[in-house]
Parts: sequence; structure tokens; C-alpha cells
Amino acid sequence: MKRPSLYFSDEHELFRQTARQFIETEVIPNTEQWESERRIPASVFRRMGELGYLGLPFPETYGGAEADFWYSVVFLEELARSGMGGFTTAVSVHEYMAINHISKAGSEFLKEKYLVPAIRGEKVAALGITEPDAGSDVSAIRTTARRQPSGAEEDYLINGSKTFISNGTYGDFITLAVKTAPELGTAGVSLLVVDLDSPGVTRTKLNKMGWHSSDTAEIRFDEVRVPAQNLIGVENRGFYYLMESLQLERLVAAVLAVSGSQLALDWTLQYLHERQAFGKKIGQFQAVRHTIADVATEIEVARQFVYHTCWLFTQGAPVVKECSMAKLHASELQKRTIDKCLQYFGGYGYIEDYPICRAYRDARVGTIAGGASEIMREIISRMVIDAVEYRPAYS
Ligand SMILES: Cc1cc2nc3c(=O)[nH]c(=O)nc-3n(C[C@H](O)[C@H](O)[C@H](O)COP(=O)(O)OP(=O)(O)OC[C@H]3O[C@@H](n4cnc5c(N)ncnc54)[C@H](O)[C@@H]3O)c2cc1C
Repeated sequence: MKRPSLYFSDEHELFRQTARQFIETEVIPNTEQWESERRIPASVFRRMGELGYLGLPFPETYGGAEADFWYSVVFLEELARSGMGGFTTAVSVHEYMAINHISKAGSEFLKEKYLVPAIRGEKVAALGITEPDAGSDVSAIRTTARRQPSGAEEDYLINGSKTFISNGTYGDFITLAVKTAPELGTAGVSLLVVDLDSPGVTRTKLNKMGWHSSDTAEIRFDEVRVPAQNLIGVENRGFYYLMESLQLERLVAAVLAVSGSQLALDWTLQYLHERQAFGKKIGQFQAVRHTIADVATEIEVARQFVYHTCWLFTQGAPVVKECSMAKLHASELQKRTIDKCLQYFGGYGYIEDYPICRAYRDARVGTIAGGASEIMREIISRMVIDAVEYRPAYS
């Protein structure tokens, strides 16, 4: 029987069916190839652009669907059901972490040049915040961009390094966090759009434990020249733009983590009905059944909290605390859940032919990337214990 939902209409569910079919027919069959090639092909971005998936939240003027946020939630849930953390990351970073800055604060010039082709899937975007010596502490970034006259105009000259950048090796451009006034600390950070084939850019691919189908790079910038019109929004407001968009990033991570946990549970339920030991299906052993009951309960509780946070987000309410809680709880849950699920696959759980094996590797980074669990706890404790409040940056 169809269950009522506070959040999803029949149209959202119809969209879910088409997105699921796309993932099942055009993504999952490529898993082995993309994972072993350590990248997804440019053609899948173009295909997703064609199908309208890369422009869900963006204005129609730029080729987007201007769909409400619940379509994005559905899309992210279905992306995670690919069972490929790497593919999921490549797409979600492009759409929800890199180009959203251009849509929100970029000029018409930037929207035409970068947002439009990114929505079509013709250009792939990366987001560059983390540096070799600055991850959790974003204020410590050292990549600089200094203004230089260039004829009648001005350019920025960029110097520095970024690391762990998803879509960094094969991406076309990057939304880059730089210091335009290093002496001002966080009040001197700006966001620039940089073409990744610019002279002076060197990209080195990193080998990772998991997320194999996403490409992750260290990127050096040596006197990289970028026109001043590539500045996103207002100079020196970049830190505030980043802090605000981190809420969306964390919400996206939470949605993906809950859906990834559910997928692992679904695989396990199927296995429990197939595998026999001591003359019974392993799903008949009480020890197993009770653990599965706990896992299913934890996933459902997390899902409802994440949906509630999504709803607050759609209402424009301050959500720093809830997004941090959602990211913390869901990413830790995914790690625990997949560990428990893998146990019931016995030795087969350790064999690459079984997707739970990949899921175990992929889930590990969830409590590190996009804000580590310790940082989520720092934010939550500041808000809960010290009554700190965070204000929107775009207003
Ligand atoms: C596969 C992958 C993909 C990524 N993709 C991107 C991307 O596309 N773009 C991008 O910009 N970044 C990306 N990142 C970077 C990611 O966001 C950072 O790794 C993360 O923010 C943590 O930073 P760090 O690795 O420098 O760890 P550090 O900041 O050095 O932290 C090390 C440890 O110290 C802990 N710690 C730090 N400060 C505190 C504190 N105040 N209290 C308690 N504990 C603390 C941390 O929680 C962590 O456990 C990616 C990372 C990975 C692994």
C-alpha cells in the first residue's frame, strides 16, 4: 500500500522511478569498468545533462529545472543507490558543491560561461577548498590571488596548492577558495572560477582507499592568470559564501549516507534469505534478526531527521545545527551499518565481487570529507553549550 509522505508528492515518486531506472540501466552496469579506470567518463555527465539531472535546483534561464529541493533529495537518494561512492561523489560535488556558488552569487558572465555548460554536462566542475596544510581549518588556507593590471582590465595571479579535490584531474573548471587579502584572515577569502587547463595548473591524481570511480587530485597553481571577472560575488566575502554553502554540502552528505545505509541493508536482507548455515537460512538466527532490527530502526530514525532538516532548509530557516547533526549522525551510521551488514556476508563480504565490499571501503571517508565528525561535534557543542548563532552570508 502506498504510504503517505509529508515531503514527497506523486510527481516526486514518478521522478524517483525514472532516476532509479537510469541508475540501474546506465550506471550500475558500468561499475567494474569505472571503478577500475578510477574515473567516470565525460559522456555520463553529458547524458545526465541531457536528462536534466544536473540542473535540478537551478533557474530555467540557465537550462535548469528550477525544481523544488525534494527533487534533489530524490535524485541524491537514487545516486547513492548506484552503490558507487565515487560516481555519487563526482556528480554531487559538481552539482551541489561547485556550481551552486556560481548560480547563487556569480555574475551573468560566469553563469553563461560556466553554469550553463555545467548544467548541460558539457563541463565538469570541482570545488577547491582543502590544502595540504589546511583542511578542517578553512581559515588557514594559503593559496593567494593578487590583482595585476592586464591592459585596460585586471587579472588575478594565483599561487598555491589544493589537495583531495574531487573531479580535480578530469574536471574542466574549479570554484577555488583563495586569499585575496591574506592580512585580513577569513575576511580576505574570495571565490574564483579557474579553468583547469590554464597555464601554470599542475594536477596529480591521488590513489584512494575507496571512492575509486571518482578522480581525486592534488592541484598546484603557479602564477595562474585569471581575469578579474572570474570572481564569484564580492571580493573578500568568500569565506562567508563557503560557510553558508557548507550547510547544503552537509545535508547532501547526510542524504547520501542514509540512502547508502539503506542500500547496504537491502543487499543484506536479500543475502539473509539465501545463505544457509546449520540447516537454516541465516536470517532465521535470532542474533542476526535483532541486529538487523536495530540497523533498520537506526536508518529509519536517521532518515526522518534528515528529511526534517531538509524541510527546515526549504523553509529558509537557520539549519547550521541540524545540518551538522545530520552529517555527523548519518555518516557515522553508514560506517556502523555497513560494518554490521558486511559481517553477515561472512567471507564473501571481503570479496570484491560483492558490492558490500566496495561499500565498506567507500563509507570510511564519510566521517572525514566535507567536515569531519570532530568538526561537526565542535559546531554542535558551540551552538548547544555556548549558544553561538550563525547568520546567512548571502543576505
Ligand atoms: C576522497 C576525498 C575527497 C575530498 N573532496 C574534496 C573536494 O572536492 N574539495 C575540497 O576542498 N576538499 C575535499 N576533501 C577534503 C576534506 O573535506 C578534508 O579531508 C576534511 O575537511 C578534513 O581535512 P584534513 O584532511 O586536512 O584533516 P585535518 O583538518 O588535518 O584533521 C585531521 C584530524 O584532526 C581532527 N581535528 C581537526 N581539528 C579539530 C578540532 N578543532 N577538534 C577536534 N578534532 C579536530 C579532524 O577531525 C581529523 O580527525 C576530500 C577529502 C577526501 C578524503
